Amino acid sequence: MKKEFVVIGLGRFGGSIVRSLTEQGMEVMAIDQDEDKVNEFSSIASHAVMADSTDESVLKSLGIKNFDHVIVAIGDDIQSSILTTLMLKEIGVEKITVKAQNDYHEKVLRKIGANQVVHPERDMGRRIAHNIVSNNVLDYLELSDEHSIVEIVANDHLAGNTLSSLDIRARYGINIVAVKRDRDIIVSPQADEEIRVGDILIVIGADSDINRFEKKVF
Ligand code: ADP
Repeated sequence: MKKEFVVIGLGRFGGSIVRSLTEQGMEVMAIDQDEDKVNEFSSIASHAVMADSTDESVLKSLGIKNFDHVIVAIGDDIQSSILTTLMLKEIGVEKITVKAQNDYHEKVLRKIGANQVVHPERDMGRRIAHNIVSNNVLDYLELSDEHSIVEIVANDHLAGNTLSSLDIRARYGINIVAVKRDRDIIVSPQADEEIRVGDILIVIGADSDINRFEKKVF
């Protein structure tokens, strides 16, 4: 069955979510209190509705409870974001994702039961910083405060070695979960897999261990 989403707040973040979900063929109801925003999205989303999401009766009349997933993408107005999330929770919405503006906002959102809290500016900042510091790091995904998945390009220091000869798991405590080579992806590579220049290693582990590996190797 097709999943149905609601996106509240059609700024840059919420707007981009609506566009992506629609492109993926999902049903999306887009909500904003600003008429211009609603008009902009009326031809993109399945429905675009002008409403104040802090008004509980409005949320109920829109049948919010019947949607699979609600994304609260209200930007600077932290009070509205919190109030909206609280009401969605009370109404019994199954899955709520909320954009947080800062750490305090995030803490409150978690406390009141948001299922997922995202911090796009902070996370993107970290990813870009990682990428700037190390030329070999292509991408970076934070799993927790201390663990990440990192894409590292293999240079000639690594090339020619097999995974077992590098003994990465024992020496660094990290795991290579996949190797991207041209258009192929080798998932769970075997110990005798030989690394080539340009291979992209997808590495999972503790940040401190991954850093150690990056420093040692590059
Ligand atoms: P971004 O940083 O992602 O661009 P913005 O702060 O520019 O975010 O956008 C947030 C959007 O949320 C605005 O279009 C604003 O009109 C909308 N918004 C704010 N409060 C409410 C509310 N209570 N109900 C509905 N929409 C809201």
